[in-house]
Amino acid sequence: MLVDLIAGARPNFIKIAPIIEAIQEEQKNGTDIEYRLIHTGQHYDKLLSSAFFEQLGIPEPYVNLHAKGETQAELTAAIMHRYEQVLQTRRPDLALVVGDVTSTMACAITAKKMNNIPLAHVEAGIRSGDLTMPEEINRIVTDAITDFFFTTTNTANENLIHIGVPEQRIFFVGNTMIDTLLKQMPRFKKPALWEQYNLAPQQYIVTTLHRPSNVDDPQKLKSLVEAIIQGANGLPIIFPAHPRTMKAFDKINVSAENLHVIEPLGYLEFNYLVKQAKIVVTDSGGITEETTVMKVPCMTLRDNTERPETYTIGTSMLLGTSPSAIQPAFDKLYRGEWKKGEVPELWDGHTAKRIVHILKNLF
Ligand code: UDP
Repeated sequence: MLVDLIAGARPNFIKIAPIIEAIQEEQKNGTDIEYRLIHTGQHYDKLLSSAFFEQLGIPEPYVNLHAKGETQAELTAAIMHRYEQVLQTRRPDLALVVGDVTSTMACAITAKKMNNIPLAHVEAGIRSGDLTMPEEINRIVTDAITDFFFTTTNTANENLIHIGVPEQRIFFVGNTMIDTLLKQMPRFKKPALWEQYNLAPQQYIVTTLHRPSNVDDPQKLKSLVEAIIQGANGLPIIFPAHPRTMKAFDKINVSAENLHVIEPLGYLEFNYLVKQAKIVVTDSGGITEETTVMKVPCMTLRDNTERPETYTIGTSMLLGTSPSAIQPAFDKLYRGEWKKGEVPELWDGHTAKRIVHILKNLF
């Protein structure tokens, strides 16, 4: 059995690493399962791509498509065109896509249109209901043509049933991003900036913002960052900025002695910081899952989330995107009233094994 594993962007690498490892385990046990890791090239910056291959021990991809595009359509087209050429050289028995990035959707469509290659989607069924998010469109389109749905939560299962997916095609397996988190936790690495900025456990804040709705208008970013600075009340703010966010920072004038805007960190360094942070302020999806598992308080600066468990069960508060919501949340934190949170079902570090076991029995 040949499986194509598709990965193109930072969160994809984190989600695919344990699946590769689980396949390698199966191979050692003599199972007839082969894989081709297809890197679409969507993220090409070393800090968002090869650094993750190194730290997470991901093997060299079978191919890097080096697909580029300035716009969503250009990128989608480039990925589809190049992946189709790979499929023409050898047809896999299954294409497996993860998450919700452009590569996920583009490769799903390409495989499905190539004579109906069976398609599996890991992290299927989550929905924000917000069609202004490119990721929501990627989720909807991918799930519309997926054959095997691997889900992280019961909410995702219900969403899929609601759109008519037969129950026997839905596999509630948990979260591969958390597999990586739990596996790598003993290797988390203190970054050099710890000493440089004089950090101490629970005495600093970690911030990441990269959603177009928060960073594409530089004034919006400025007002959010100013509110975080005010709420931080002098605590150091470590802000590893996505390239998209860095561009917006170049256009605004916002500075404070305790604000440290830095390049994206490696996975091991970033999560070292998150694990000991007083609070994380973010608009990321994956980070809210990680803070939930590490039980670190988290403010989610979004109007909605496709991961409701991070605030219904976990440690997040869904604050919206108005800067005025930030200070009251800090006040709650300082009063010691932040909820403790629980870990969602099956986020236990064994998800990838479950996925590969299921696949093995399906083919
Ligand atoms: N991350 C990282 N370094 C950073 C910022 C984030 O390693 O400087 C990791 C983080 O731990 C999480 C993933 O990147 O696993 C989240 O990616 P991102 O926020 O880009 O994507 P989203 O989850 O919002 O799709």
